[in-house]
Amino acid sequence: MAETLRLNPNVAELPPYNAGMNIAVARSKTGLTEIAALASNENPYGCSPKVAVALANLDPSRYADPACLILRDALSKKLGVAGSRIVIGNGSEEMIAAVCRAVLRPFSTVVAMTPGFGLHEIEPRANGAKIVKVPMTKDLRFDLEAMRIALKKKPSIFFISSPSNPVGPALKQSQLSHLIAAVPRETLLVFDEAYFEFCDENTPDGLKMLADSAISYVVLRTFSKAYGLAGLRVGYAVASDERLAQTMSSAKTPFNVNAAAQLAAVAALEDENWMRASVASVISERKRMAIAIASLELFVPESQTNFLFIDVGGDSAMAFDHFLSHGIIVKPWKEPEFASFIRVTVGLAAENDRFLKALRLLKDKLCEAKVAS
Ligand SMILES: *Cc1c(COP(=O)(O)O)cnc(C)c1O
Repeated sequence: MAETLRLNPNVAELPPYNAGMNIAVARSKTGLTEIAALASNENPYGCSPKVAVALANLDPSRYADPACLILRDALSKKLGVAGSRIVIGNGSEEMIAAVCRAVLRPFSTVVAMTPGFGLHEIEPRANGAKIVKVPMTKDLRFDLEAMRIALKKKPSIFFISSPSNPVGPALKQSQLSHLIAAVPRETLLVFDEAYFEFCDENTPDGLKMLADSAISYVVLRTFSKAYGLAGLRVGYAVASDERLAQTMSSAKTPFNVNAAAQLAAVAALEDENWMRASVASVISERKRMAIAIASLELFVPESQTNFLFIDVGGDSAMAFDHFLSHGIIVKPWKEPEFASFIRVTVGLAAENDRFLKALRLLKDKLCEAKVAS
């Protein structure tokens, strides 16, 4: 009987999301208790202690504010953007889904980067859109010329994460100007800044540069990474205009952001000093790791995030198993052209040391295998 039910092929045929392995699963698979979870770009320092204080006021029996007014007001003040242009999501990933539902129709075209963030492809496909992938250059820099050519076809949405997940670099000011100039009136630019807080000082603030442009855009940011609230699910979209924000709001479920998430996000915003201090520690560890990895003569592109993308010179699935056997969860990249890359989150210093030690062992193992064959 089950076979006679007709499913939506756009959804039924989606590939599974490549989520990082859960710590409990890693413990039971390896029998190890000490697991370094370096696959999902979480904040290894946790979140501001003010979050726990705020959560003491949680009343689980009441529906949360579906409009997230207090949080939107706080963001409106921080960003200098009208609250009516801000939509809060159950993670910014929900806003990727909402923007697709708001804009796409069957057979719309969507452009996304490769290597890129999986949901920039999965959500458009779920909505029946056709995907065009724009590669980065051979040395994994943004290819502005390739983007310009893709935009000439006037896609419905152009998705880009800057800084790039999984590669790491952010668009420079001149590159972002070029990109903005190439976006046609018919195209919505979705500028995913999930790692904005980790950027260098001279990286442009996408929100500010886009505010000065005439294009349609959505900027995405999240509390999951720098603010350390990944488990509570809260992120947001800033839309170029109110009509777009309202349509995205209609495209989500009404009570999408739970009460704990709203309280926590407001408290986290009130303690930016905590966030900045943890980001500074992550950045200094990232620099230390990048130098150590490069000294092994492995390719590791420049990163302005809390992770590094590394060409380990062998199959990423094999590398994943190697690290797991040492109690370290990394993310094996699965896009076929990048199947020798892993993405590793910058963790606590001791976790990073363990990672570097296991990476040296992996390199030796791969060298021996080459000599033997
Ligand atoms: C982590 C991430 C997100 C989604 O984060 P949420 O936890 O859903 O807020 C969105 N875009 C990119 C590029 C990310 O890396």
